[in-house]
Amino acid sequence: MRDEVAARRLEDMQQLTSPPVLQIRGMRKRYGDRQVIRGVDLTVPRGVAFGFLGPNGAGKTTVIRALLGLTIPDAGEVELLGLPLPSGRQQALRRVGAIVEEPRFHARMTAVENLRIHAAVLGPEAALRIPGVLERVGLRGRQDQRVGGYSLGMRQRLGIARCLLSDPELLILDEPANGLDPAGIRELRTLVRELVAEGRTVFLSSHLLDEVERICDMAAVIRDGRILAQGTLDELAGVGRPGVEIRVGHAADAATALAARPDVSAVTTAGDDRLEITLRATGRHGEQQVTAELVRHLVEHGFRPYGVATTSGRFEDRVLALLERRGEGEPREDAAIDAPARAEVAA
Ligand code: ATP
Repeated sequence: MRDEVAARRLEDMQQLTSPPVLQIRGMRKRYGDRQVIRGVDLTVPRGVAFGFLGPNGAGKTTVIRALLGLTIPDAGEVELLGLPLPSGRQQALRRVGAIVEEPRFHARMTAVENLRIHAAVLGPEAALRIPGVLERVGLRGRQDQRVGGYSLGMRQRLGIARCLLSDPELLILDEPANGLDPAGIRELRTLVRELVAEGRTVFLSSHLLDEVERICDMAAVIRDGRILAQGTLDELAGVGRPGVEIRVGHAADAATALAARPDVSAVTTAGDDRLEITLRATGRHGEQQVTAELVRHLVEHGFRPYGVATTSGRFEDRVLALLERRGEGEPREDAAIDAPARAEVAA
């Protein structure tokens, strides 16, 4: 037991002191007259599942493609596994496994045959890893089935198995949960957590808040080619605006009664008995005080609130608030991040 604790401490120390697996400074990229990456700074430490979260078109795939040498950024510095790009790319990519877009296979061949083809390029050690990686992704029993008959979830897992043939330190997965059903997402989560427990780093992009919250330890939020925030999920949960939800009859009138208060930044109604309020308060103590004031204000104005819940500190609310705040005055492009994430939560 003691040894275990000591070993874990040592691992934590190593993680704190080891250089990040990925460091991007000032990345910019323009397509034609459109600036799609506008100065991205990103730091991914070793040994975590890191979510790269943003709505469709935010620039996630472009950043990933730039890391892999599939597109050339116009500006910026990148270090991948401690090696500067582009000069160190070949060397770095030997230690990286990546899936950009849906993994492709020879449909008429079996899973094991597909992996053999890939292993032949990598070398003899990779071929020896085939049974182990199939086991690891839970496809050992289906390895002799043609991939054409595989579900999307099985193909995703086979894609990860293919990445693992090179025993990578870092896995880069672009929208790995796209098209997966809830059971597939659960399997993906288990697999990613196991890979992280082995000491690997998993960098995955997603437009689903819920998925990042379930799978990842850390995340960066990107929108319109800019990083809005990055950190642990707990840190990010504290990034947006504090909020409170009050259940009260005649919600529209109650919203009017609260909207003019200086400690309220926005009030919206959801149904005829629910107010969603964004506060101007800072700190937990300030939020509690303002919340109590709002309830008192409602009662004094003849309303009878019967439910109060804080929405502060919820990763989902904070990230959505962050995306909305930065998007003020701009057309909303984050509907995709909103709707499916909420659907997932509801499911
Ligand atoms: P999605 O999840 O929809 O793929 P994303 O966050 O990965 O979104 P990107 O694919 O990086 O976003 O795209 C960012 C922006 O760059 C989008 O507006 C996209 O239309 C544009 N874009 C991407 N690739 C090209 C290209 N080859 N030529 C022109 N524009 C491009």
